[in-house]
Amino acid sequence: MSRKKIVAGNWKMNMTQDQSVDLISELNQITSNDVEIKIAPSFTNLSKAILILENSEIEVIAQNVHFEERGAFTGEISVEMLKSIGVSNIIIGHSERRKYFNETDIILSKKVKVAIDNSMKIIFCVGEELSEREKGNHFELIKSQIINGLFELSTDKIKSIIVAYEPVWAIGTGKTAENHQIQQMHEFIRKLFKDNYGNDISNKLRILYGGSVKPNNAKEIFSLADVDGGLIGGASLNFSDFKAIVQAAHG
Ligand code: PEP
Repeated sequence: MSRKKIVAGNWKMNMTQDQSVDLISELNQITSNDVEIKIAPSFTNLSKAILILENSEIEVIAQNVHFEERGAFTGEISVEMLKSIGVSNIIIGHSERRKYFNETDIILSKKVKVAIDNSMKIIFCVGEELSEREKGNHFELIKSQIINGLFELSTDKIKSIIVAYEPVWAIGTGKTAENHQIQQMHEFIRKLFKDNYGNDISNKLRILYGGSVKPNNAKEIFSLADVDGGLIGGASLNFSDFKAIVQAAHG
C-alpha cells in the first residue's frame, strides 16, 4: 500500500516574526508533488504564515490547542480561533507538552475530541522515556497513550489522525532510535489500529517518526516499511536541512 509521505516541521518556541517570514519565504520555493509538507510556527506567527503560503501546498499547523471551546482560560487558544485564521491542522500530545505542561492522556483525549469535532486534522504524538524502554515497558506505554488518546473516536473520525512516534530520548538529543526499533514500534502502532478499526484504516494510517531526523539519516528512516515521513524539530529551523529532508522523503 503506498501512502503519501509527510514531512512536518515543528518550530517549537523559536523564531520572531521577521525570522519566520524569512524562512517561510524560502520554504515557499520548494516544490514537492509527492510529499506533503507542513510547518508548525508559534501562535504569533501563524497568521503571517497562512498569508504567505496562501497559494502554496505547504500546510500550516498549530503546535497546541485548548480543550474547551471558549471561556475564562487566560492565555489559551481555542480551536475556533485557529479556524478563524485558516488553520486546520494541530499537533496534539507532543512529549514537551506531556512533560513540561502536565498534559495527561485525559487532557489529550479532550483536545483530540474538540479538534475533531471542529473538523481539524491532528498529528497525535506518542513516545516513551528512556527509563520506560529500559524497563521494557515501551510497547505497553505507547499502547495506552494511543488507546486513551484516540480510540474513543469513531471509524469515520479516526481517519483525520496522523500518528507521530517520537521516543523522548531521541528528541533534540542528536540520538536517533535504531532503524529496527523504529520499524518495530511503527508496525506495532499500525497493528493496534488494525485490531481496533480494521485493515482499511490501518493500511491508510500515516505514522511519522520524530527524534533527531537530519539530512544524513532521513532517507534511511523514511525507507522503513511502516514509516510515512517525519516530524522534524531542530532541523526544520534551517532551510537547507529541511529542504534536504523533504527531498529524502521523495524516495
Ligand atoms: C520534535 O520535537 O518533535 C522533534 C522530533 O525534535 P528534533 O527533531 O529536534 O529531535
